[in-house]
Amino acid sequence: MSQKAEKNRLYKVLEIEASATETEIKKAYRKLAMKYHPDKNAHNPEAAEKFKEIGHAYEILSDPQKRSVYDQYGEEGLSGDGGMGGGMSAEDLFSQFFGGMGGGMGGMFGGGGMQQQGPKRSRDIVHVHKVSLEDLYKGKVSKLALQKSVLCSKCEGRGGKEGAVKKCTGCNGQGMKTMMRQMGPMIQRFQTVCPDCNGDGEIIKEKDKCKGCHGKKTITERKVLHVHVDKGMQDGQKITFNGEGDQGPDIIPGDVIFVIEQKPHPRFQRKGDDLYYHAEIDLLTALAGGSIAVEHLDERWLTVSITPGEVISPGSVKVVRGQGMPSYRHHDHGNLYIQFDVKFPPDHFNTPEQIALLETILPPRNLPEIPPDAMVDDVALEEVDQSQQARVQASAQGMDEEDDGHPGGERVQCASQ
Ligand SMILES: [Zn+2]
Ligand SMILES: [Zn+2]
Repeated sequence: MSQKAEKNRLYKVLEIEASATETEIKKAYRKLAMKYHPDKNAHNPEAAEKFKEIGHAYEILSDPQKRSVYDQYGEEGLSGDGGMGGGMSAEDLFSQFFGGMGGGMGGMFGGGGMQQQGPKRSRDIVHVHKVSLEDLYKGKVSKLALQKSVLCSKCEGRGGKEGAVKKCTGCNGQGMKTMMRQMGPMIQRFQTVCPDCNGDGEIIKEKDKCKGCHGKKTITERKVLHVHVDKGMQDGQKITFNGEGDQGPDIIPGDVIFVIEQKPHPRFQRKGDDLYYHAEIDLLTALAGGSIAVEHLDERWLTVSITPGEVISPGSVKVVRGQGMPSYRHHDHGNLYIQFDVKFPPDHFNTPEQIALLETILPPRNLPEIPPDAMVDDVALEEVDQSQQARVQASAQGMDEEDDGHPGGERVQCASQ
């Protein structure tokens, strides 16, 4: 037991300083719990022990009250309820934190995990915010309205006049009651919501209830948030409003998180800070020069010359430096890559005399090379019928249009764009 007395032992278990912040504690736990999880260390019994220890240290240090007892009196001060046997098992703690091993680590974001320790935290409100490429290029402020619970200002979240709110005597303010029931020879004990206060733990006389919130302590309010979509933000980037989630008595409000989703663009594709553009040019421009114009994302038009003498093959890619997206924060611009398609003229666009002229201008035909002893079969080339052609082209392009639904956005609407 002398090991237990070692000063700051629990901090050492989590490999952090005694001055660590809550976030650092959380991070350290997350890292170590993943590393020593028994599922990943099937053949290492020491890992299981370590995993338990980490969970134990985290259970105490993540709870401000237990942590302060520990800081003052050490592990002895936590006798019983903080000990290895009591509290939550390391497995339970882990699954509460991560939402279960199998459930993916997606549960890590959102503050729901720690609800049984310390003050409760309302859940994070996550909203997908669809943004056009133009807006990601120029930056913009979106005003988004959100419905949320706020503490009633009339009663300052008490639910009634000062002094009118009484602790429920039925449950001693717990909201829950332990009841006993005789089941044959056994007495069953079970927890139930207190019927006197409906689980509130408090009782307010009807006439003393706050008129603003009818004793509920919170009201629903419409709040407009100014979401700064900065130049160069990427698809999937998050904009967080700390503590803008639902308020409630004895609840730490969660965050409101906007996740940027870049809408597909009709002209450009984006990869990092680079833009990709398809330009269709005619055959004459491809062979003899000319120019193209590209409508950019900020009302400018770029004109790009193809100098006579330069030959553009179908599918070739050229780059315009510095005309891509601005980078996030630094605003250095990426590049604009242009891939060329060449539009050929229709059948019979020229006379036999002009064809003869072309033969004098263009490099000579490549004659087919066939081994002299090969069997030669002379076959005809035919047009493909229209429906078949459409099918061949569609499968070659393979483009899927994204639907414009509003998934996950049940609580936030655009106030104005
Ligand atoms: Zn009660
Ligand atoms: Zn009120």
